[in-house]
Amino acid sequence: MEAELKQKRLVLVSNGEPYKHVFQDQEIKQEKLAGGLTTGLDPMMQEDKGLWIAWGRGEADFEVVDQENKVKVPDEDGYTLKRINLSEEEKNGFYYGFSNEVMWPICHTFISKANYKKEYWESYKEVNKKFAASIKEELQEDDLVWIHDYHLALLPGLLADSNAKTALFWHIPWPAWEAFRTIPWREEILEGMLAADFLAFHTDSFVYNFIDCAKKLGADVNFSTREIYYQGSKTRVESIPLGIDYQRFHQLAEDQEYLKKARNIKEEYSAEKLIFAVDRLDYTKGIEERLEGIDRFFDKYPEYQCRVTFVQRVAPSRTGIEEYQQMKERIEKKVAEINGKYQKDRWQPVKYFYGSVPQEELLPYYQIADLALITASIDGMNLVAKEYLAVQDSGVLLLSEFAGAAEYIDSAIKVNPYNVEAVADNIYQGLEMSESEKKERLKKAQADLKEYDINWWRDTFLEKWLNCYE
Ligand code: UDP
Repeated sequence: MEAELKQKRLVLVSNGEPYKHVFQDQEIKQEKLAGGLTTGLDPMMQEDKGLWIAWGRGEADFEVVDQENKVKVPDEDGYTLKRINLSEEEKNGFYYGFSNEVMWPICHTFISKANYKKEYWESYKEVNKKFAASIKEELQEDDLVWIHDYHLALLPGLLADSNAKTALFWHIPWPAWEAFRTIPWREEILEGMLAADFLAFHTDSFVYNFIDCAKKLGADVNFSTREIYYQGSKTRVESIPLGIDYQRFHQLAEDQEYLKKARNIKEEYSAEKLIFAVDRLDYTKGIEERLEGIDRFFDKYPEYQCRVTFVQRVAPSRTGIEEYQQMKERIEKKVAEINGKYQKDRWQPVKYFYGSVPQEELLPYYQIADLALITASIDGMNLVAKEYLAVQDSGVLLLSEFAGAAEYIDSAIKVNPYNVEAVADNIYQGLEMSESEKKERLKKAQADLKEYDINWWRDTFLEKWLNCYE
């Protein structure tokens, strides 16, 4: 497979870019963007010197590019990043509009949150065309074009008249037909995706949902071989769960600097035990449901009052959308309510932080938390769950049944996040778990995380994609 790959050039296409440029102290600085995509694909791009095409969002992004909007990253010897420049109108229609107010809620089965404005759809089509035109300017014979995520669903279709081999990884859930069918432009979206030779999702349920949607559209499908035949072309669909950079997290966990910070956190909160959660501010993350569970836990198990502190970090997300602002206010009100109800002397039941931090700053929290509380009402994967397990030596993961990660982490305690009573009881069960059981569960989870890491994900995707042409 590697030899075959070496003969071809990989063109990666995503909405988010791996590096951005910003102004700092009157100079331009380059920042690497954290996240699975960059972590997994940047080393490969650096080695193979491929081409990455993405929306340039950094404030100084277009100060450093050449006439073709290209810049070498991470340095002159690196690979080429070609930036797409989007106007304010395009950002609002394509990104905030269609991607985040239609594709995001529908794929997460929040039908009532979708906003099917025709202008959003028009903008989504235009921006996908803009990406396609930019890719076509670059295409060489036999290029492999690897497209990422729900912002670019139409791209495979728009590239169908080129000779490129296309594949798409979908990083969020794929919903049941009952949700997907509500999108007025459902046929065009599916047609665009089905022009790809290879499609992959995190889990089998998303794969089956997708094949079922294709069937409803009239495609000829085979659930056992996972092949879809539509308008003369064949698409293979697979589940390939995104992993983390296990080695990096595991090594960082042994760093004395982080361990010291971790101990300081515990002392500062004057609590015997810590429960930790970190999420982007999003309705899919179940932050409000989690706070209900925490409230019930302190109420039902009062012996844990003054002994346990719940630390909730929330990273800002899609701040331009009104709905997200309102959710932030509700969350902060509930935190204040819980604190008002149970607070005693120096002890505060909930410590809440709003703001995004570099990933390394999460480490001490991952290390010191006795329990990680992940209550997503639905999630494509949830990397936080995996990162927590990778750095722990005796912690417990309480994980929503509805996160993609739950299909792969058998040793977590699984919970229905809407069941407030169960959340409270499972927190109790997690805190009471014996050391030997915790260690046993962790050992199993860590072995899997190590085997199915980010490199496994990338290599498996490429291998299965190239197998489509045999
Ligand atoms: N993260 C971070 N800083 C923060 C909050 C989160 O670096 O302040 C990282 C976190 O370590 C994880 C990612 O953001 O790698 C979140 O991924 P996840 O799959 O859990 O959720 P998503 O936000 O992609 O829906």
